[in-house]
Formats: sequence, structure tokens, C-alpha cells
Amino acid sequence: MTDKPVRVRFAPSPTGYLHVGGARTALYNWLFARHHGGTFILRIEDTDRTRYDAKALEDIFDSLRWLGLYWDEGPQVGGAYGPYAQSERLAIYQKYARQLVDEGHAYYCYCSPERLAQMREQHDRGGQTGYDRHCRYLTAKQRADYEAQGIVPVVRLKVPLEGQTTFYDVIRGQTTVDNTTLDDLVLLKSDGFPTYHLANVVDDHLMEITHIMRGDEWLPSVPRHVLIYQAFGWEIPIYAHLPIILSPTGKGKLSKRHGGVEVRYFRERGYLPEAMVNFLARVGWSYDDKTELFTREELIAHFDLNGVNKSPAAFSYEKLEWMNGVYIRNLPADDLVQRLVPFLATGLGIEENELRKRRELRELVPLVQERLKTLADITDWADFFFVEEITYDPRLLIAKKTTPADCVFALDRTLELLASLPDFSEEAMETALRGLADDLNMNPGQLFGIIRVAVTGKTVTPPLFGTLRILGRERVLSRLARAREVVLQLAA
Ligand code: GLU
Repeated sequence: MTDKPVRVRFAPSPTGYLHVGGARTALYNWLFARHHGGTFILRIEDTDRTRYDAKALEDIFDSLRWLGLYWDEGPQVGGAYGPYAQSERLAIYQKYARQLVDEGHAYYCYCSPERLAQMREQHDRGGQTGYDRHCRYLTAKQRADYEAQGIVPVVRLKVPLEGQTTFYDVIRGQTTVDNTTLDDLVLLKSDGFPTYHLANVVDDHLMEITHIMRGDEWLPSVPRHVLIYQAFGWEIPIYAHLPIILSPTGKGKLSKRHGGVEVRYFRERGYLPEAMVNFLARVGWSYDDKTELFTREELIAHFDLNGVNKSPAAFSYEKLEWMNGVYIRNLPADDLVQRLVPFLATGLGIEENELRKRRELRELVPLVQERLKTLADITDWADFFFVEEITYDPRLLIAKKTTPADCVFALDRTLELLASLPDFSEEAMETALRGLADDLNMNPGQLFGIIRVAVTGKTVTPPLFGTLRILGRERVLSRLARAREVVLQLAA
């Protein structure tokens, strides 16, 4: 730990929708900041203009907010260290690149793209590594000649020609590389844009970042960054590189081939942000090796870098679904209703407002809350409440080991009974219908199955008597009558 106030950042490049791996990085930074009473900063690394995608940027904002990972400083909220989008900080990088050149830590390179391409080819054929440092040794005269030709140079770092660079990572321990393995990387491109390396280091320094938590894939960049910090004479932040997220089988990195990988995918399918946060926190971090469920407050209280695993963790869609079910079951019914409305409206193709005016969803929730794994599941449990006419698969209306004639008879008797029942309560219906099954010499399962299909069109539904009550006597009777017609045709 440092004794400075904790300042951490999530620094996505807006090149695609927020990936669950990115979301986990953001979450760990956010939790770390909250745990230590620090500041969580969002910085947009958008200097690669060819890969910039405005929709991706919107998605990053939306997804972070959906997860409740509000940033203390950054785009849209401001802060004392802005601007927080790198594309708005070009003059800063240019100034710092110039400073390194002036102090002798960097140099202008005029090499043509053709020359560089040739070198890359040589490199690919197993020759020298990277750039040959041609321009590092230019005389003032040669430089002036290039300038006179109007060639706009790039700025390259003078990597030490010998020695080693060592750095420490809280999760990975110490790493040492020979400086001879590093080439003189570009800091500033000829169009005035910084490379990732320069912008990243300059910003982490100027934004007073104390801890850098990011994906493992950035580990190979660290020696270069350390050399840049050293060239500036700046203090190096504490590094913590997070293990990658593996596919469900544990073989290879999680990718689209395995299923949805973007936060919005889960959001659109009815995962709760609370469940997503809990789940992602546990992909690569543990508190005591057994506790799975943590409230946000508990995560903040317990999260620290010593709980982050060194080895990569697999992403389990099954576990996420289970956890989502747990969170759905724990929601107050009213809250659940509110969250279900948009999903059901989309599923049924009707207006949310229409849905809100109706009583069925509210009455149904206690019956299905236990069974929902995602909010989107609601459509399958509830659609028959909202359609005028049910379409039947007539075969489903015939109970096992009965004939169409038996079923017509059973439906007739059920109609009679439910029409005359003084009280349309669940208990009254259940007692009466069990009695009827006895009279008909059917087992209750057979009779209830026929009724279930008759009023819902399905074999799997919320509990039958609750369903009948919510549908109401009128609709139940008319659906039973229609089902009777359908079976009658079958019997004929
Ligand atoms: N812009 C980098 C990314 O998209 C961030 C790397 C870092 O956090 O330093 O992942």
C-alpha cells in the first residue's frame, strides 16, 4: 500500500461493447476504491481513431451504470484531472514527448514506412528484433536534412542498450527483462497522436493513479512503461494484473464461441445487475473459498488484492444462472414486478403501460418468483394470461391413458363444476376438482393436466389453482369450452 489516497482507474478503449472481462476489471477497481475510501476514475483511451466506435462508448457508459459502477471522475461527471478522454489530451502528450526529446531520453525518427516494413520482414525471417535504432544516432545535419524534406518524424524512446528492467506486480510477483529484448518504441506518431504506451503512462501519472489493476494481457507492456516512468523520473504506481477469464471448460480464453460475452447480452436476457456484480466478483477473487453470495456492501468490506487469485478462473454460465435465480427470489415482489414489466412487454409485443394497467402480473409474481432464472423467463410463464385466444396442440389435451371421449366428458364436468362453485378460490377449486377426479375414476394428475392445457395451452405452467384464480372464472370457463370443441373434433 502507499500512504497516498487511493486513486484507481478503468481505462477502456471504445472499440467494442463492454466485455465481461472488462466489466470485472472495472468492478475490481471500483471495489478497491470503495474499500479504501479512494477514487474510481473512468478514462477513455480513444487515441486509436481507426478502431473508435461511438456506439461502443455509449455502451461502456450504459453498462457501467447498469452495474452500479458509478465513476467519481471521468467523462460526463468531470473532475479536477480532466479531460478524461485521451483524444482531448493530445497537446499534453505532445508536450511530454517533446520534454523527453529535450532531456535526451527520446529522439525523432524519420524512417519511412517502407524502411520500417523492410525491418519487420527481416524480423519475421528471424533477424534482428524490431527497429534498428537508425535515427537514434543521426547527426544534427542529417536531422536538418530530413526536416528540410518536410518529413514529419515520430518520437521514439531511447531504451537503455544494456541492463535489465525489473518490476513488481502484487499478483504476479517480480518480473525482470533484459533491456536488449526491447526496441525503441514509438511514443508519439507523426500525426501527433500518442501511442497507447505514452498516453497511458502520462495519464496515470498526471491523474495520480496509485494502483493499476487491469487484465493480464497488458503485462508484457509493463517493462516499456517502467522505462517511460524512469525517463520522466516519475514514481511507478503499484501494479496488479488480473488473470484472464477462461471458457466454461477451463480450456482457452472465454470468447463468443462459448456464449454471450458482453454485459449487454446478459442485461438483455434478464440478468440482474446485483447478480452480475456478485458473480463477476467471484470470477478470480475469493474471500474464504466457500462463500458465494455477497451483497455489494459485503464485497466492498471484504474486497482486497490479496484475495485475487493468480490462476485464471473459468466463467460458468450455469453458476451465473443459479445466482441470478437466487437474487430474483430475494427481491421484494413489487420490485420484481417493476423489473419484469419491460421483459414481458417485449416478449408479448405490447406496451409497458398497457401491462402496468393489468393486475395479472402482480398477482402472478408470487407464484413464479421461485421458478424464474432470468427476468426474460417471465414470458413463457405468463403469455397465456395476455392472449385472447389460445392455440392448442390438440394432442396435449388428451391425458395419457384416456380417450378423446373421456376428455370431453371430463371437460364437461369440469365446466359444470367450476361454473357453479360458489367461491372461485384456490382451496375451493382444488377440493372440488380432486373430488371430480375421484368421480371420474381418473387420477388427479390426469384431470389437472387436461385442465392445465385447456386454460393455458401448455403442459408447464405456474401452479394450476393459482393460475385459474388469476385468469378468473369467465376466462377459465370460455377456454375450457373451446378446448372441449377442439377435443370433440378429434373424437369425431
Ligand atoms: N486501453 C486499455 C484497454 O483497453 C487499458 C489498459 C490499461 O488499463 O492500462 O484495455
